[in-house]
This record gives sequence, C-alpha cells and structure tokens, in this order.
Amino acid sequence: MGKVLVIGAGGVGTVALNKIAQHPEVFSDVMVASRTLSKCQGLADDVKRRTGTSIKTAAVDADDVQQLVRLFEEYKPDLVVNLALPYQDLTIMDACLECGVNYLDTANYEPRDEAHFEYSWQWAYKDRFEKAGLTAILGCGFDPGVSGVFTAYEAKHRFDEIQYLDIVDCNAGNHGMAFATNFNPEINIREITQKGKYYENGKWIETEPQEIHKPLTYPNIGPRESYLLYHEELESLVKNYPTIRRARFWMTFGQEYLTHLRVIQNIGMARIDEVEYNGMKIVPIQFLKAVLPNPKDLGQNYTGETSIGCRIRGMKDGRETTVYVYNNCSHHEAFLETGAQGVSYTTGVPAMIGAMMFIQGKWKRPGVWNVEEFDPDPFMEQLNKCGLPWHEIVDGDLEL
Ligand code: NDP
Repeated sequence: MGKVLVIGAGGVGTVALNKIAQHPEVFSDVMVASRTLSKCQGLADDVKRRTGTSIKTAAVDADDVQQLVRLFEEYKPDLVVNLALPYQDLTIMDACLECGVNYLDTANYEPRDEAHFEYSWQWAYKDRFEKAGLTAILGCGFDPGVSGVFTAYEAKHRFDEIQYLDIVDCNAGNHGMAFATNFNPEINIREITQKGKYYENGKWIETEPQEIHKPLTYPNIGPRESYLLYHEELESLVKNYPTIRRARFWMTFGQEYLTHLRVIQNIGMARIDEVEYNGMKIVPIQFLKAVLPNPKDLGQNYTGETSIGCRIRGMKDGRETTVYVYNNCSHHEAFLETGAQGVSYTTGVPAMIGAMMFIQGKWKRPGVWNVEEFDPDPFMEQLNKCGLPWHEIVDGDLEL
C-alpha cells in the first residue's frame, strides 16, 4: 500500500488519477497538486464521481523547490509521479532528494530556453538517488515508456541480440478540429519542429525536420505517411542494448497538420524566445498554447485509434527473426472511461502501472533508471489488465 503524490492535472494527469483511483488495493492515499488548485479540485471531483475514490488536492509551483519541499514534508508521499511539464523534472527531483521521496516521470528534462532534450541532466542524479536509497523511474509514459518495456520484453523472450529497432507511433484519430495537439502544445510543437535524428552504426545522424518519411502499415488502420523524428528513448535504448545497429522513431502526421505547423513556424508563432508586446515580454509559443484547443478537452468527439509499437529485427538461436509488438487504443473508449482522449490515456495508464510497480516493490532499486532497466514481465501483464492490451506479429514483414 502506498501514498502517491501526482503533480500535474492536465490530460495525462486526468487519466493517471482515474486509473490510480481504480486500484485502492495498491494506492492507499492519493493527492494531486498543480499550479491551479481549481483544476485539481475539478479533477478530484470527477475521479470521485467515476470511481468513488477520494483524492486530496494542493496548489504548488513545481518550478520552486522550496514550495515542493513544504508540500512533500506535509504530505509525506512514498512516490511523486511527475505529470507536469519537462521543465519541472529537475526541481521535483531536487525536492525528492531533500525529503527522501521516490520519483517517476513520463518525459525527460528540457530547459525552457532551448528546444533540446537529453537524459544527461537526469542521469547526473544517479549517484545521489543511489546514496539516498531512492528510486527514480524516468520516461514511464507510452513513448518513452511502453516502447522501452516492449523492447526489454522482446529482448528477454524473443532475441539473443536486437540489431534493428524502429518505434512506430500512429495516431489515426480525428478530433474534428482544424488544428490541435494531442498533448501540451508547447512541448509537442517544440518536439516536432526540431531536426530529426537517428542512430546507425554507433553514430547519430541528423536530418532536417520531416525530411525522411514513408508510408507504414498500422494494424487495423492501414498505411499512413510516417515521419522520422528524434525521440528521447532512442538515447537510453541504444545505451542499454549495445547490439543495436540502427534505431529510429517514426510518427504519423496528416498533411493538414503539417501545413498548419509550417505556417505557425513561418509566422514566428513557434518561437521560444521572448518578444516585446504592448510593453511586456511574451513567448510566442506560450501565447499560442493559450489560444489552441486544450488537449484535455479533445476527447468528446474524438473518433479512431492510436497504434504504437516496436518493430524489431535481430538474431535468435543463430537465425534472423522479427517481431512487431504493438497496442491499439480507441480514443472514444479512453474518453468513456476517463474523460480524456487516447494520447493522454496511452501516457497516463503506463504512468499508473509504473507507480504500481514501484509500490509493489517490483521496480524498486536505488538510483536513476530508464524503464527498460527493470523486469518488463509484470508491467506487460498489467498493460493487458489495465486497458492497453498488446499483440505480437512474429516473423512478419516489418516494411523497414
Ligand atoms: P498539460 O499541459 O495538459 O498538463 C500539464 C499540467 O502540469 C497542468 O496541470 C499544469 O498546471 C501543470 N504544470 C505546469 N507547470 C507547472 C508548474 N510549474 N507547477 C505545477 N504544475 C505545473 O500536459 P499533458 O497532460 O498533455 O502532458 C503532461 C506530461 O506528459 C508532459 O510532460 C508531456 O511531455 C508528457 N507526455 C508524455 C508522453 C509519453 O508517451 N511519454 C506522451 C504525452 C505527454 P496548470 O493547469 O495550472 O497550467
């Protein structure tokens, strides 16, 4: 039985809290804290209505270590689940160290003034977490998250050596809006407008944004144009599986989405630096976030499904073999269960399972870890039970 503090009451937080509330046998006491207390209270009321479980609420600015420390000392959680933004990762980890609290997140640290993400900042906490006897679990959403667990599971059960890894992420949903992002718009647009990057023969190869693309066929969906982009789990997976010769990440985008994105960039609305406006300083991408649809509110009319998986090629018992392991998730079913759409669902459910793994002692080891460094089996079992069932196609055509 564990006491959990979730920071962040957005789309992902909504799903994670609904799922946490469905497991009172694991999570004995739950609090949600965010900048805006009214959002936490609204969420707690919604979760109570759906599941009957009561959740405590608090206001906290997670950019401020001292505010976090005060909250942690008062509430005394066993684990903090960070579902705020990547900017808050380090301040929350600092507060965890100061108060002796374990840590889990779904996205790696990004500095605000540079659209750049890598694990080095968080891996640098490894010794301090280890010495304090605390566990930090990094990147426990879907991608990163389940993508790493899928890889670890296949490495354990189906391969002696993984050589080629392609993570494929398709959203074949339709929310009926001209343009909206499926998770925090600022983080999403920063990610997609960056240069692409993939790993081959020990080197990272950079591409222009959306330069490499091809149609890939997704189960139950069909072919969708898929674009190579850099994604953070590639960094930890090639480190933890040194036999990998090539690792890439692909995501589908519709033409309409890409056109909007190009316009947003061309007119300067994707800028992350401050500009002078009416005597004050604003960051264009943050202003854009304020006028775009809130990803949390897309669920109502969202049809279609997501399909995210790993296509892996490697050797087993001296022969080449392939596997495609994937999950499909319906936006509408996610909405009916939690009030949020499929992208929030596919992130919030794994965050809850990671928290469950920690509380149950299955993923508990002092230090800072990526998900693939833990035993994948109990996590895979919970995916099937908690709404994200997975499937495998063995020795099929990977198209890649
Ligand atoms: P939202 O923007 O919907 O929600 C973010 C929440 O964090 C809001 O409640 C916000 O509070 C809160 N927050 C922001 N800044 C602070 C702060 N300084 N102090 C306290 N709370 C703060 O984001 P999402 O729910 O869509 O995404 C949450 C996280 O999940 C992001 O880090 C995202 O990158 C990650 N993610 C990971 C994926 C994966 O597969 N691994 C996929 C999708 C998302 P307020 O409401 O007051 O603004």
